[in-house]
Amino acid sequence: NHGIGVLTSGGDSQGMNAAVRAVVRETLRQGHRCYLVREGYTGLITGNIDQATWEHVANVTHLGGSMIGTSRCDEFRTTDGRKKAAKIMFDRRIFHLIVIGGDGSLMGAQKLKEEWGRFGEELFAEGKITEEVANEGRELHLAGIVGSIDNDCIESDKSIGSDTALHRICEAIDGLVMTAQSHQRVFVVEVMGRHCGYLALTAAIAVEADYVFYPEIPPDDKWPEQLCHQLESVRKYGKRQNVIILGEGVTNSKGMKIGGKQVKEEIETRLGLEVRIATLGHLQRGGAPTFLDRLLGLRMGHEAVLEVLKTTEDVGSPIAGQKTVAQVMCLRGHNIERNELSRVIRQTETANEEMQQRNYD
Ligand code: ADP
Repeated sequence: NHGIGVLTSGGDSQGMNAAVRAVVRETLRQGHRCYLVREGYTGLITGNIDQATWEHVANVTHLGGSMIGTSRCDEFRTTDGRKKAAKIMFDRRIFHLIVIGGDGSLMGAQKLKEEWGRFGEELFAEGKITEEVANEGRELHLAGIVGSIDNDCIESDKSIGSDTALHRICEAIDGLVMTAQSHQRVFVVEVMGRHCGYLALTAAIAVEADYVFYPEIPPDDKWPEQLCHQLESVRKYGKRQNVIILGEGVTNSKGMKIGGKQVKEEIETRLGLEVRIATLGHLQRGGAPTFLDRLLGLRMGHEAVLEVLKTTEDVGSPIAGQKTVAQVMCLRGHNIERNELSRVIRQTETANEEMQQRNYD
């Protein structure tokens, strides 16, 4: 009988509840203990953890946000903080952990995994855990699930929450287009996504936007002329409104952020059109998850349980020095694949660094 803990961390995303449900139900179905760690890593450090029952996760799949709470936890960024979390886990005999979150959260999980053996030895040497518990928890069986609206995981076609965020963006812009049409206005719509332009670019295509700014291809210094030329030409054909999508992490050639206000001023000065800015903000994370995010959450939660239990079988009775490798659940086409967590983190970091370098060169 194993104790499997599940937590959601970082920015919430729709479909996280589906993933938690699948983790709980599959764990219990296989006769193991399941623990709901509340408020992300904060709950792991403070021991805000409840043993899950079958009923805990009834009627949750359709809910947005995270029913077990999520947080940004600075203490977990420190070795001391992570050691506190390890102590709590040894006390509760939770040696299997499923982390649902973005790249920051998964990086934190990987660090805990790497330090786990040392934490166990230290806690035993300090007399804080018994030899029996230290032995039982020699190995941390870890799996990650990418829960993020940004869809910025390099190995996964989809992260949990990005489909719903896109759906919300489309709905909001469909509404804006009606009023823009009446008043012949231009709307600059700011969307989330941090350093990843997936939301901006795909939403722009889906709403027939006239212009899109996204971080992977930053605009050159001539963007005001190009943008205004584009608006002028579509207006000439009789279009009464324009939508411009502005991704969150977009910078100019000097690395300075391009904001909605700047875009508005350029258009108003050059073309004399009426411009409004719409910042969708947290609306993008609101509301019920789409079918796709529910299904993705459920499938990934289920796979993550199989993964952590599989590593237990692989290791069998743990002996010193034996190491399991944490995997992250990824969607490739229609299949859920596993990828080595440390490699995915490295690749994502490298890709972001390369992008920054390319953009500022
Ligand atoms: P996301 O997981 O959505 O990318 P954050 O980057 O804010 O969100 O990370 C969420 C939490 O994960 C942080 O508050 C922190 O507790 C943990 N975390 C993030 N980066 C690290 C890191 N480099 N080392 C340890 N923990 C981290």
